[in-house]
Amino acid sequence: MSGLEPHRLSLNTATVREKWSLAECIEGCLRHGIGGISPWRDKLQEMGVDKAARAIREAGLAVSGLCRGGWFTASGAVDRTVIDDNRRAVDEAAAIGAACLVMVVGGLAKDSRDLPGAWALVEEGLARTLDYAREAGVRIAIEPLHPMYAADRACVNTMRHALDICDRLGPGIGCAVDVYHVWWDNELEAQLQRAGKDRIMAFHICDWLVPTRDLLTDRGMMGDGVIDIPRLRGLAESNGFSGLNEVEIFSALDWWRRDADEVLATIVRRGRTAC
Ligand code: ZN
Repeated sequence: MSGLEPHRLSLNTATVREKWSLAECIEGCLRHGIGGISPWRDKLQEMGVDKAARAIREAGLAVSGLCRGGWFTASGAVDRTVIDDNRRAVDEAAAIGAACLVMVVGGLAKDSRDLPGAWALVEEGLARTLDYAREAGVRIAIEPLHPMYAADRACVNTMRHALDICDRLGPGIGCAVDVYHVWWDNELEAQLQRAGKDRIMAFHICDWLVPTRDLLTDRGMMGDGVIDIPRLRGLAESNGFSGLNEVEIFSALDWWRRDADEVLATIVRRGRTAC
């Protein structure tokens, strides 16, 4: 499989979050020929949703996702506050024309060991957000996270679990496939096939470094780790995914410290050689 030209890449703003505002990310994508963007909500709100929507549109960038909704489990109940926040996220995703609203669903409730209880809260929260999202025409993408985050970030950790939820909730909900979170899964091929075109809503890329020095902020640049990105991309595409390849690198020790234009230039290069 040949590599990716930059117009098939999308910049997740977390990748340069220490250096650039959303406005600077938009300009950076244009400078480097990157075809899309995926803002985090803090950057979006900082710029102002309407202003950001206009700037993204005028730049001709696609929006591969909005990061992120979810966090349904924190208080031990799906309360008004969390539903309202997720509805606001849906509105923001609609305003910027995002391909999906990415959901990081939440881990165990505070001071809880009740994992099945957390799963139930997640499903309830997703169901209640989905009704609203369907009316707004926004697709909801569950991002299964690597199991090391089950306690504190997301208790949905496999594509199989995410798709089981999607099966129960019906149309309008699918998965954000992040190679960092799912590369190890020996069911991945079968689950991507099961997901199909309509439910593979996003494809996030970075790399898994060996050793990994921090559980959250030591993701690698594509090509620097052990993930066979071309193989995984091939699986997503052979099952119908045709969206952008969203580059999402949390890297406190390395890439967040570098000049952001250098980071984007490296992304463009590695897109061609390592993806
Ligand atoms: Zn991701």
